[in-house]
Amino acid sequence: MARDRDIPPTTLDELRRDLGRLKMHAIAAGLDEALDQAATLEQGYVTFFAGLVAKQVLAQTESAAQSRLKLAGFPTTKTFDTFDWTFQANLNIQLVKDLMNLHFIRQGRPVLVLGRPGTGKTHMSIAYGILAVHAGYTVRHFAVTKLLAELYAGLADNTVERMVSRLSRVDLLILDDLRQVTPKPEYAGLLFEVIDARHGRKSTMLSSNLSVNAWGKALGNSTVTPSLVDRLMERAHVINIKRGRSYRTDGPEAPPEHERPAGLQPEGEEGA
Ligand code: ADP
Ligand code: MG
Repeated sequence: MARDRDIPPTTLDELRRDLGRLKMHAIAAGLDEALDQAATLEQGYVTFFAGLVAKQVLAQTESAAQSRLKLAGFPTTKTFDTFDWTFQANLNIQLVKDLMNLHFIRQGRPVLVLGRPGTGKTHMSIAYGILAVHAGYTVRHFAVTKLLAELYAGLADNTVERMVSRLSRVDLLILDDLRQVTPKPEYAGLLFEVIDARHGRKSTMLSSNLSVNAWGKALGNSTVTPSLVDRLMERAHVINIKRGRSYRTDGPEAPPEHERPAGLQPEGEEGA
């Protein structure tokens, strides 16, 4: 009697093995069902084959989106599905919804999101980022302070150029929350390198609770700040939430009014 390994594999076994080698796992998983269905419905070859290929395409598209989502580095998940459009009286809803079509990414245009703390800037930037990931774009999300710290550390081990070059290729770079930090003389120059490498080609979305004319001070009054602002403003869409309410202190989950701290709003902030 022949030993197991001498038994020639059937065509179906070979097919399964080849599908495994080609990493076409969705086709392999759907094969039995598709064969049954083809027999029952008396499907033609093309219909049968197209159905299986479509399964594989769907699985690969979904898996690529999951990888891009991971690489994007969102601090949390926020979407427009959970966004309350009625909360902010001065939100330019038309603009926010227009930008949801993501043309700005294809056009490489900057988007500035300005408003007080708690007005939904981070929420919106993540929501745009997630839309972009699912539309097939590569996205990176950074808190500005974290990016500056990473670039600054790169000065010591000579990796700034590599970091800037990597960041320059991302379709949508989200720089969240440019605010007053203890500035270092190098900060503005480092941020400029990133912005300049993307300028006119790739879209950068930057959010801030400071008005644009306060960015210079926040970044340490460097001589490059005007050039940085210039590049970010050219062809930019600006979502400016004037006199915005904080969802944190005024939203549905905020403490009752008599328990809310007064005078939360520091001076010189956007929309004040
Ligand atoms: P900002 O970045 O402007 O300081 P966030 O986007 O972090 O504010 O918003 C603070 C919190 O309030 C987050 O949990 C966010 O999801 C929520 N939030 C803000 N605006 C809205 C809104 N219009 N609808 C639903 N949730 C909101
Ligand atoms: Mg924020």
